[in-house]
Amino acid sequence: MLTLTDKTKCCGCGACANSCPKNCIAMVADEEGFLYPQVDKSACVNCGLCEKVCPILNKPQTFPVLETYAAKHKNAEVKLKSSSGGMFTALAEVILKEGGVVFGAGFDKEWNVVHTYAENLTDLDKLRRSKYVQSDTENTYQQAKQFLEQGRKVLFTGTPCQIAGLRNYLGKEYENLLTAQLICHGTPSPGVWSAFLKENFNKNDIKNINFRDKHFGWSANYLSFLFSDGLLCAHGMRRTLAEKLFERVPGKRKIGYIYRNVFLRAFLAELISRRSCFVCAFRGKENQFADFTMGDLWGKWPEIITSQDKREGMSVLTANTAKAKHLLNSLSLVTQPIDFDRVARINFPLLSSPVAHPKRAEFFARYRTENVSKLIRELLDIKPWWLAIINKGYNKVLTLLKIKRP
Ligand SMILES: Cc1cc2nc3c(=O)[nH]c(=O)nc-3n(C[C@H](O)[C@H](O)[C@H](O)COP(=O)(O)OP(=O)(O)OC[C@H]3O[C@@H](n4cnc5c(N)ncnc54)[C@H](O)[C@@H]3O)c2cc1C
Ligand code: SF4
Ligand code: SF4
Ligand code: SF4
Repeated sequence: MLTLTDKTKCCGCGACANSCPKNCIAMVADEEGFLYPQVDKSACVNCGLCEKVCPILNKPQTFPVLETYAAKHKNAEVKLKSSSGGMFTALAEVILKEGGVVFGAGFDKEWNVVHTYAENLTDLDKLRRSKYVQSDTENTYQQAKQFLEQGRKVLFTGTPCQIAGLRNYLGKEYENLLTAQLICHGTPSPGVWSAFLKENFNKNDIKNINFRDKHFGWSANYLSFLFSDGLLCAHGMRRTLAEKLFERVPGKRKIGYIYRNVFLRAFLAELISRRSCFVCAFRGKENQFADFTMGDLWGKWPEIITSQDKREGMSVLTANTAKAKHLLNSLSLVTQPIDFDRVARINFPLLSSPVAHPKRAEFFARYRTENVSKLIRELLDIKPWWLAIINKGYNKVLTLLKIKRP
């Protein structure tokens, strides 16, 4: 039976809960808002399966990176609908074409991030785009197994630890299973996400959420909220404020904009990610868990990235198995071989874990009783947007006059 004494040793993949024959493991949110297994000891029969499938206690077979590419989907529309260069869609298309099923992270009705599946191209859109919140895998490992046993092709996508959890849960390799892992920097707390939404929006009024809105280009990183009446708020601006600022363009699709993109800022500053992400066991060139690895092609690549790519997005894709290498040519992609080590120098989560923000513990001690947005602004010292603009101008003047800031 699982006994969890060190929280850094659970990535929340849910393999244990999916595997328990007595259904006596529930995934329950802790005080930081992350899911951990809770065992009903009275129902447990000590079969040991939960420990056997845990990818932290027992790593599945790992794969080395075999080939690395700069890659983009051939269709510009797909790229604009995706977070990076549309790798996920390219993989999903080949599986769906053969009557297969695609698993990935979507939203539920409450805008929580959960794993689910799509069986056609229309449904696929709910799985597109990064959601920077830890996804609840629920019973998707069981569902994937059922489809595999029926002989259907399955594409399962997620964080590296989720893919490792799935493979342990399955317990054997399936010819009809294809897996793709994200380059994973860390995953923010679902509890913090829920509190952030609650204090800023009426969830029923939200029609869509995009963590990587490309209105201002691929690397601009805008978190946007689309409301039922067509109002689009970028950077998590309060709806009421956006309405005030943009009421002068009635009938048009309006875009609100604000500097204080607090949720993404907290994610990138390592304030709100899971403890296991800071000592992640699922990184490394020889330590891949899926057939493919996909991420953003960050860094300077003037010989590859055009101005069009800067608007639409560009990915890095690695093939880690013979299955992946074989499939590459049938994907709807434009690819160019690149050097893995050069990619990893910029995209460090491929090889090493980030360091937690020094105020992470303080954040989690206070977030349940305080306003999350305000707390993030305080701990990360985020200035109001108007002060940030003044500061920027002031700094520019000092630089022009070659004066050192006091
Ligand atoms: C939490 C998180 C951290 C990331 N960190 C990095 C990083 O440090 N460096 C980097 O290069 N790329 C990172 N990525 C990956 C990147 O943001 C894109 O998701 C990736 O490049 C795929 O983009 P795409 O255009 O091919 O497909 P898209 O259509 O954008 O596909 C999205 C894919 O991501 C999956 N996904 C989305 N949200 C989640 C989630 N919460 N949990 C599990 N799976 C999810 C979907 O299932 C789908 O497979 C991260 C993604 C997430 C979700
Ligand atoms: S030991 Fe077996 S019965 Fe007990 S919690 Fe683990 S999987 Fe379930
Ligand atoms: S199987 Fe996954 S969720 Fe369960 S204890 Fe191990 S890491 Fe945690
Ligand atoms: S950083 Fe590692 S532990 Fe954290 S979600 Fe990603 S793969 Fe899992």
